[in-house]
Amino acid sequence: MKILVLNCGSSSIKYQLFDIDQGSVLAKGIVEKIGLKGSFLKNERFDGDKVKLEGEILDHQSGFEFLLGMMISEKRGVISSLSEIDAVGHRLVHGGETFQGSCYLDEVTIKGVEDCSDLAPLHNPANLKGIYAMKNLLPDIPQVGVFDTSFHQTMPDYSFMYALPYSLYKKYGIRRYGFHGTSHSYVSKRACEILAVDYKSKKIITCHLGNGASITAIKDGKSLDTSMGLTPVEGLIMGTRSGDVDAGALTLIMEKEEIDYSSLNTLLNKHSGVLGISGISSDMREVETAAAEGDERAILSLKMYQYRVRKYIGAYAAAMGGVDILIFTGGIGENSPDDREKICENMEFLGLEFDKKVNTGVRGKELIISKKESRVTVMIVPTNEEWVIASETRDIVEQMKAGK
Ligand code: AMP
Repeated sequence: MKILVLNCGSSSIKYQLFDIDQGSVLAKGIVEKIGLKGSFLKNERFDGDKVKLEGEILDHQSGFEFLLGMMISEKRGVISSLSEIDAVGHRLVHGGETFQGSCYLDEVTIKGVEDCSDLAPLHNPANLKGIYAMKNLLPDIPQVGVFDTSFHQTMPDYSFMYALPYSLYKKYGIRRYGFHGTSHSYVSKRACEILAVDYKSKKIITCHLGNGASITAIKDGKSLDTSMGLTPVEGLIMGTRSGDVDAGALTLIMEKEEIDYSSLNTLLNKHSGVLGISGISSDMREVETAAAEGDERAILSLKMYQYRVRKYIGAYAAAMGGVDILIFTGGIGENSPDDREKICENMEFLGLEFDKKVNTGVRGKELIISKKESRVTVMIVPTNEEWVIASETRDIVEQMKAGK
């Protein structure tokens, strides 16, 4: 079965074409700067052939025409006809309380995604552009939506509610939803598979530390709590997002700086986090280099970053009554031994004995990085969100065909 996985942003389309039965990626790439000057498509084929094609790409539909044309081209292609694509899986950001899992995209569910746009005005409309365009271009091919939020729909009310007037929850759905669900779900299940333990009886903390970052407490196979909230700005310190801030500070900043909602949103999402503190970069590698050279703000931003993750680990261990498995994933979690080590420092009180030697120099591979005698197993599990989307898409299409 060949499945095209799409992640549509406002001016970009990331894609991967999977041959899911073979467990392989036939082609992957990105269409960038849609509707802007200098738009292009970058593609990498399974055999390493790489190409960057420039052209005027005015909207998502022309972006798809460009990329589908390349997939069937004689020189660069990987399939001989578009009818070889069996299904399309979309990464969708916000499913609100409507979507508890992935779904087949028909008129009713697409309307459901549209209705969630108020909750994610930057993301859902861009995701929807991808759905509409593919419906036009490949009307007979089933499409499936996989939500960043749905894994966290198991959170109990005492965990997902904000202590704001209850009417705001009823009126606008103001509550915590959480994101990165496909990643938290995948790495936690994968860890249990590697350890050959029962997923449904473990207490797991998953740290997805990438440019965006979130941490989740998973108890008995269900998300109990997660650090991102109504929007992805809550929780951990991120590349350019602030994470937790006193709401009172925000109203004060608005007053002092005389800024409106939209400028505050930009400040919190684009100019804060590691970039905002270090003043250097949102890229952890650059900040770590500057810190190693003695830059004080870079050092401070790393200390704050690591401290915030530690604080959440402690909180989630308390929330679950202990922890059995701690997992690192995402660009930083997978590739930064130093961050992993600092985050796990002095956690022996929890029964966590970190193995510094094993951890040193390890990047991007599945590995246990706690000592044998450690009560908590610490692991690196590289995430693979696109693979999860492809397999969920296959499952839903197969269920549909079987009439379930
Ligand atoms: P992601 O959003 O998951 O792609 O992660 C991106 C983040 O991972 C960026 O901040 C990168 O700097 C960081 N990253 C990637 N490789 C490394 C590395 N070797 N050491 C530290 N951070 C890294």
